[in-house]
Amino acid sequence: MSSLPTEVSEALFERAQRVIPGGVSSPVRAFRAVGGTPRFIRSAKGAYVTDADGNEYVDLVGSWGPMLLGHAHPEVLDAVARAAAGGTSFGAPTEAEVELAQMIIDRTPVEQVRLVNSGTEATMSAIRLARGFTGRDKVLKFEGCYHGHVDSLLVAAGSGAATLGHPSSPGVTEATTADTIVCTYNDRVSVERAFEEYGDQIACIITEAAAGNMGVVPPAEEDGENFTAFLCRIAHHHGALLITDEVMTGFRVSRSGQWGLDRQHGDLMTFGKVMGGGFPAAAFGGRAEIMQRLSPVGPVYQAGTLSGNPVATAAGSTTLRLATDEVYAQLDRTATLLRAEIGKALDAFQVPHVIQHSGSLFSVFFTPEGVTAVPDWSVSATQRQDVFAAFFHGLLDNGVYLGPSCFEAWFLSAAHDDAALDRIFEALPKAAAAARIAITAA
Ligand SMILES: *Cc1c(COP(=O)(O)O)cnc(C)c1O
Repeated sequence: MSSLPTEVSEALFERAQRVIPGGVSSPVRAFRAVGGTPRFIRSAKGAYVTDADGNEYVDLVGSWGPMLLGHAHPEVLDAVARAAAGGTSFGAPTEAEVELAQMIIDRTPVEQVRLVNSGTEATMSAIRLARGFTGRDKVLKFEGCYHGHVDSLLVAAGSGAATLGHPSSPGVTEATTADTIVCTYNDRVSVERAFEEYGDQIACIITEAAAGNMGVVPPAEEDGENFTAFLCRIAHHHGALLITDEVMTGFRVSRSGQWGLDRQHGDLMTFGKVMGGGFPAAAFGGRAEIMQRLSPVGPVYQAGTLSGNPVATAAGSTTLRLATDEVYAQLDRTATLLRAEIGKALDAFQVPHVIQHSGSLFSVFFTPEGVTAVPDWSVSATQRQDVFAAFFHGLLDNGVYLGPSCFEAWFLSAAHDDAALDRIFEALPKAAAAARIAITAA
């Protein structure tokens, strides 16, 4: 039971469930993993969101990543208003989309980009392009990596290290997933086995540049070689492409995303979240030689009525322009402070946990006793979800809004100042105490 008023959210949730499946437009928002009523958000400003009952929370979701500068940033709002006043969609090329494409190219190794509306579209299109470029069908992905709700990627691994996938959702056909091979993140042997068996059929490997959707799991170093570098090497050896998905990490973990930290990148890269500045904008890009295979210059078809939308483009390019090196340095400092306080609070109440990060993107794993690192999904999946749920509600009741799943990253923004951090620091010991009670009760 929440100690904050939730009557309005409860009433809205009931109404929502009558007209929207589960009452939400995307499943994780429904609080299924933690129980309770999802908060209906009325407004947001800077580091804070306010729900329909008038409760204010420090926001650690940031719309699941896009709000790098904080909510309702005045300059972003101004750019959006000016763009909208000039017309909201033309279905024709604009100067603004050329500028956004150029900003992405300036910050990353890609030579050309195509703008789309969501991360899902970006990865779906990148895979189609990789298949069209190589003339091959199979895609290798990692269990626990999320690339949006693309049919061919909604697969569960069978038993064994490198297996052909099975649909993880009804509505996805066996035939679709028969071309998807599922391997274990950071497990090189599973990838080697897949290439031994299907090497000449694999069009591409798709990987998160640093895994962020199983909790944060950076690519591991082995014999001085980064996991993503290994993937690039083995893919190229077999004539396949590598796609590094930076939809979450791009323009967040550094100005140049994960590539800015480890200099590893795929032949194709996907972007989203931060580059849309809170609007539906995403992109995929790569070497011109590959991108030139796209329609209308090449034969691989890809299109979108609202792609490069002027309002989304204005929000995205303003966000990228304001995301200076100082912003990233401040985010890193904020994240370091916060991780230390989380560790202190959980240690004080003897709650077993592991905290992992890439840049300012981090997550707290509520692991069983004795686990000291989370290399991949098989370890991440062993988390104490009941302990997380208690911790989550402890934070929520004390005015801190965290992603309602133990597999989600914590998202900070440039608007998280000392006052916002102090509120989190005050809530942490109470949440840690609640987590301790859950452990003791089990
Ligand atoms: C969020 C995310 C996606 C999907 O983006 P949507 O805009 O939600 O479709 C793809 N890949 C990664 C790594 C993501 O974090």
